[in-house]
Amino acid sequence: MKLDLILREAEIITLEADRPRATSVGVLAGRIAGFDEELEGCTAEREVSLGGATVVPGFIDAHCHTTWWGLGLGAVELEQARGLEELYALLEAEVRRLEDQPGAWVNGTGFNHKHHGGAFPDIRRLDEITGDRPLYLRHVSGHLSITNSATLRLAGVFESGFADPTGGAVLRGADGYPTGVVEESAQQLIQNLLLPYPVERIVEALDAATTRYAAEGITSFTEAGIGGGWIGHSPVEVQAYLTAKRAGKLHARAQLMPALDSLRPIEANAADMHGTGSGRGLDLGVVAGFGDEWVSLGPVKVFMDGSLLGATAAVTEDYCGHQHNTGYLLDSPEAYRERVDAAYRAGWPIALHAIGDAAIDLATEIIIGCQERYGRNHLPNRIEHFGIARPDQLAPVAAAGIAVAPQAAFIGPLGDQFAALVGPEREGWLYRGRSLVEAGILVAGSSDLPVADNNVLRAMQSWVDRRTEQGKILGGAAEGLTAEEALRTYTDWAAQATGTADQKGTLRRGKLADFAVLSGSPLEADDISDLEVLATIVGGEFSFVRLDSGAAASSAPESLFAPEPDAAVVR
Ligand SMILES: [Zn+2]
Repeated sequence: MKLDLILREAEIITLEADRPRATSVGVLAGRIAGFDEELEGCTAEREVSLGGATVVPGFIDAHCHTTWWGLGLGAVELEQARGLEELYALLEAEVRRLEDQPGAWVNGTGFNHKHHGGAFPDIRRLDEITGDRPLYLRHVSGHLSITNSATLRLAGVFESGFADPTGGAVLRGADGYPTGVVEESAQQLIQNLLLPYPVERIVEALDAATTRYAAEGITSFTEAGIGGGWIGHSPVEVQAYLTAKRAGKLHARAQLMPALDSLRPIEANAADMHGTGSGRGLDLGVVAGFGDEWVSLGPVKVFMDGSLLGATAAVTEDYCGHQHNTGYLLDSPEAYRERVDAAYRAGWPIALHAIGDAAIDLATEIIIGCQERYGRNHLPNRIEHFGIARPDQLAPVAAAGIAVAPQAAFIGPLGDQFAALVGPEREGWLYRGRSLVEAGILVAGSSDLPVADNNVLRAMQSWVDRRTEQGKILGGAAEGLTAEEALRTYTDWAAQATGTADQKGTLRRGKLADFAVLSGSPLEADDISDLEVLATIVGGEFSFVRLDSGAAASSAPESLFAPEPDAAVVR
């Protein structure tokens, strides 16, 4: 039999109990045709020797913001600025660059006040730099932004009768003038000036972003909010994914979570929607699972609270150094109960963004209530982030089969800030690892890109060592996962959490031929983050091949890693 592709001389980690290891894998029509002895007598269009490189299931990023990141790839990167003077200098340079584009926005990403001693830019200084040009700088948390007076004027903030929207705030200084900081849902005021983005622009963002995903070994991702709210970019966002797919510009498989705001009241026969005849959904009754292997719909994304970094995540006890601040829910509990119930009974699994333990309480209660009334959905219900969870919160989540999507990649760059905000008594509750696994909770690996980067190998190492930038072991070494568990969070468990385990997450005959080729085994590496992604394969096609060989690639055969792709073909 002639296959499309055979990978040989590989150390294949399948994560399947009945065949945990193999050295060759065959691919036909985008799916795994077999391993080792099953390939006897088979030839292939293309046979590639991997020279002992490790093959694992393609990585699945269970929660990220691809379009947001992709659009930001053209914005000023503020991450490197240390001290506000450096930040102002970057903005001055951008204003000069935009000289012949009157009215063009100054956009920036990656702002984190910790790089400026906790300080935020001074709006008067920003106004001096930008003049009448609107300015929009995104905080790394996504939960607040920095603006100038021109932006706030466009947004109507200076008009009489202006009031902060529900679940957000335009912060003001002692003199009553805005500081330029807009929190949470108030960011929608600015988004409204930009939205909706043209589909073509989103397509380009997806192309740029997923090309980079491929370089990280990522073959699938879940987009955590499209279509509505301050996280959506267009009410017709699905079209951008389909267009990108047809044009060969989507380099990883996408599962899309509609934002709750993009659903609307729908009515059907009185017997439908669990005998209520009504709920919240999309036209034509399209629900989660609709689509194909490349673009499909996932759960509904619901924002319940803010971020730890902004001390806006809803916690039960005050943040340290913030008297009488326990963060806040973005809407009333009653509103969440009613709207989530309506979406759930219309057929939607739910992904509730809950970072603080108070938000997790409400999220757990809502999901359990929906499951009791209407049964389990065909996709798991999820709690996104699960940032600070009390010990008593784990058992109910496990018993209800709720999957969680925390971010190991936060531990390094943000762990010290988190620990300072919640104090030593609660530090062990932060971005838990082992205690979740031991409680029986399904843990899906995810980046929350662009809040953290999407270097999967580094995130897996963080799951194992939990080391912060300042050398703290967040929550103690006992919270660390084993290397195999860390690998499963980004493969097997992420597939289960996204309801796609029948298609991916482990390597077995009939599943999608999605692989990451690594310079060594993550199960044996001293430091997983020292490994390199050598190649990425989606549906049997290479989406990435590392050409800048270096030490890792030189141990691999020249055939695959030579600059000319044709040379990789071994017939
Ligand atoms: Zn997110």
